[in-house]
Amino acid sequence: MNHSALSLAMAAAMVMALGTTVAAQDFSVDVTASSLNVRNGVWGSKLGSVRNGQSFVVRAQSQGWYRIDWSGREAWISGSYASRSSRPIVEVTASSLNARSGPSTGNSILVSLPRGQRYVRLDQSGSWLKIQLDSRQAWIHGDYTRAVSGGATPAPSPTPSPTPAPAPGGSDLAGLDVALDTGHGVTGSGDFDPGAVNRFNGIREYDLNREVGFRVRDLLRARGARVSLNTYPSGSVRRSLFQKGTVARGHDLFVSLHHNAFNDSAQGAEVLVHKTKTTSSSIRLAQLIQDRLVQRIFAGQSRYDRGVKRQSLGVLSGAHSQISTAVLVEGFFLDPSNVTRAKADQWVEAEAQAIADGIATYWKTR
Ligand SMILES: [Zn+2]
Repeated sequence: MNHSALSLAMAAAMVMALGTTVAAQDFSVDVTASSLNVRNGVWGSKLGSVRNGQSFVVRAQSQGWYRIDWSGREAWISGSYASRSSRPIVEVTASSLNARSGPSTGNSILVSLPRGQRYVRLDQSGSWLKIQLDSRQAWIHGDYTRAVSGGATPAPSPTPSPTPAPAPGGSDLAGLDVALDTGHGVTGSGDFDPGAVNRFNGIREYDLNREVGFRVRDLLRARGARVSLNTYPSGSVRRSLFQKGTVARGHDLFVSLHHNAFNDSAQGAEVLVHKTKTTSSSIRLAQLIQDRLVQRIFAGQSRYDRGVKRQSLGVLSGAHSQISTAVLVEGFFLDPSNVTRAKADQWVEAEAQAIADGIATYWKTR
């Protein structure tokens, strides 16, 4: 690294004023989610997605998100689904460098990379370097790059930030034990219940519930919590709603995951607690999650805040037969025509962040 300490400090000061923190030294991360959306900003539009095990270089951080170089442009991924690694990093030194499908000029050009971009080096063949370009691997000529780090000795992880997000792999939730329940699936009669279905595109509630569950589980585990996620695919042992709730036994809290449907036009989030068996801890957890759902999915617009509601629900009754803290989340209405797969995908991610953050805040302020 040849940056002067002064210019680094000035750059850091300038971007910190905007809420973004430059990494003291770029580092590589490995994607840990089965599929992770790549966006054009923090909570921005989706550009594409990357997969478990793919590696990128973190150039800056903001609100727990990482800015990476991606297919010739800048992009953002959630830091909650990326773990720090020590892979070798190369920087483009030509003003424009072709990334190709193979290690020779006879291979097709995938994209042209601007000077200064950094990618993880995966392999080498003669003078050619294999990099993780986006969701694809590509080859660039090594003469127009320089090695930024060899990957042998990863630097410690200084992430100076005025309001630091918990580092992936942290342990601020150690001791917390959460039971997550995927709403719907196999029923007491043994049939498979998909829950609500969007009649325009076939999106099923059970699938959304499960997808949110995986993400909440991964987010909480990354912070040291123990999490069990129950799913009920077709063919699993028949269970009544009450029985599904009793898996709460031995855990600190129980969250059942659902998505609403009504008349193809209702919108908003709500969290339910049991009508008669609820407790002050359940209501506090419900409100913390509800506030964050409205904030994260609906940008804080109050008309989407359906509030915390009391209902006599079998799954919560079952949970309360075992423990004192149990809620049921209806993240958003899945039946309107404008809930496309892309929209649902975006909301599922926001919802998972909201639920995980609500649980974490509940636990840390208990
Ligand atoms: Zn449901």
